[in-house]
Amino acid sequence: MYEYKGVSLSIVEGDITKIGIEAIVNAANNTLLGGDGVDGAIHKAGGPTILEQCKKIGGCPTGEARITTSGNMPSKYVIHTVGPIYKDGSRGEDRLLYNAYYNSLKLAKEYNINAIAFPSISTGVYGYPKDEASKIAINAVTDFINKEGGIEEVQFVSFSKNDYLLYKKLLDKRFNNN
Ligand code: ADP
Repeated sequence: MYEYKGVSLSIVEGDITKIGIEAIVNAANNTLLGGDGVDGAIHKAGGPTILEQCKKIGGCPTGEARITTSGNMPSKYVIHTVGPIYKDGSRGEDRLLYNAYYNSLKLAKEYNINAIAFPSISTGVYGYPKDEASKIAINAVTDFINKEGGIEEVQFVSFSKNDYLLYKKLLDKRFNNN
């Protein structure tokens, strides 16, 4: 566990659909109609009520975020955000990934959500290099804390031991001075 300006930051290894926290973030696609990876897992675990709400929302541009309830999952809300598809890094992918994290936090704040868990957005099917993606994730979260505040707990959910160790390395470097 790390602390930044009174906000608790932690890394959790495992399945985000099982986390009992106010909001979990979904790495969705522009249609919001479900997909592979974490998106598929969230719709499966949450049940059809999430898809019904997503249909009403009608899609989400890359870098923005939308919210639904969590259906049958232990969390209360799902914040659906869309990360960029990684091509070669020269197409604004970094800014779009940053926006996906930042806008998810903004939406959380609007809903008075204090605790949120993020998967590693865009690093699965969308192919974003994990090292860069986790740096962007941490930067967006710390910038948000600096500029906007209003959040108390952020969890970075890693789906593998390697992802966990990657986040640990970056957070140790930034917050534990080693
Ligand atoms: P994207 O299309 O944004 O790349 P993916 O779902 O393919 O989204 O992958 C995003 C990240 O989520 C990957 O690092 C993947 O390992 C991870 N992931 C997949 N399933 C889960 C899950 N159930 N809980 C947490 N993370 C998951």
